[in-house]
Amino acid sequence: MKRLLGSLVEYLAVPGIAVIALLAVAHPSLAGKTSSQSAKKPSAMEPVPALTPFVEEHAHFDEKQPAAAVRAAMAALGRENAVMIVFQISPGTFDHPGRYDSEIILSEVRKHPGNLAITGGGGSLNAMIMQSAASGDAGPEVQKKFKARAEELLREGVIGFGEMTAEHFDGFTPYQSAPPDHPLYLLLADLAAEHDVPIDIHMEAVPQDMPLPPDLKSPPNAPRLPANIAAFERFLTHNPRARVIWAHLGSDFTGFRTVELDRRLLQAHPNLYMEIKTDPDAHGRNYPLASDGKIKPEWLKLFTDFLDRFVIGSDQHYPEPKDADKRWQETILLLNQLPADVRKKIGMENVARIYGNSVAPFLRATKN
Ligand SMILES: [Zn+2]
Ligand SMILES: [Zn+2]
Repeated sequence: MKRLLGSLVEYLAVPGIAVIALLAVAHPSLAGKTSSQSAKKPSAMEPVPALTPFVEEHAHFDEKQPAAAVRAAMAALGRENAVMIVFQISPGTFDHPGRYDSEIILSEVRKHPGNLAITGGGGSLNAMIMQSAASGDAGPEVQKKFKARAEELLREGVIGFGEMTAEHFDGFTPYQSAPPDHPLYLLLADLAAEHDVPIDIHMEAVPQDMPLPPDLKSPPNAPRLPANIAAFERFLTHNPRARVIWAHLGSDFTGFRTVELDRRLLQAHPNLYMEIKTDPDAHGRNYPLASDGKIKPEWLKLFTDFLDRFVIGSDQHYPEPKDADKRWQETILLLNQLPADVRKKIGMENVARIYGNSVAPFLRATKN
């Protein structure tokens, strides 16, 4: 409840300013007046769109109602000032009954080229990695099947591989863990490079073996977490032509996804990109926003120093859950605070570069 109240205060504090700024741009006659004179105060729930068009590069959908999810995402574009939403497939395992992959929604997504796109493999390639990590079998037969499935997804029209995982706490999907330098991950990097598509990966940061953080439960999570940063770096260097997007910066549940770690990895690995996600209902341990909603200076400096390497990936679900605060809104309130040149890169231009021909022509046609 405290957390809810806190985020309500943030909502009230920032949107007022942003909406007034927007109104001033739209109506120059209002620019010189104060909010009490002319601008209508928004209610706490009134959405604040992005100041410049952006791509939501990491969203999810209700797989039980794909057509409704697509309608909800299309309806959200204008409200958010998003030009495109990219759906990711939740990472699943073969023994998870809710497992699915891109095929469940692909035909609906393809009705809206340029507005919607989708990655694939979260429900199949990722499950194959988890199975192989558990069995120890990453032999030629396993690799052959893995490659065939990856190529099938690409033929069907996915624009990248995601959402993959290497360390994922129990939630919508079960606890999952596999080394990010597993042979199938290295194969995936080669496939991504060969076909010129990125890999989107969810991985809690674990520099050294450590016990599960005390606020998480075991089971279902493992009591100890295996170190993964050195293995992640081996994955990144294995094929430098493979573009890797490390999901969920701003949603750190081990406490080790710090500015310092992100900075060091971005410096060392030019093929590494990061998605920004700020969830008002789950701040985690290294939240980029202060309690007044402002970006903390050290994070602002990171975003500015590496302005070519970040995208917006709020992890919003469509249709938007009624009982949760909006992830996209909190993340856009962060985006709106960035200097215009940084905002345009992170909001849109970087996505065009990372995903290449499958989205760039549509995004180039969008005016800033
Ligand atoms: Zn995730
Ligand atoms: Zn996700």
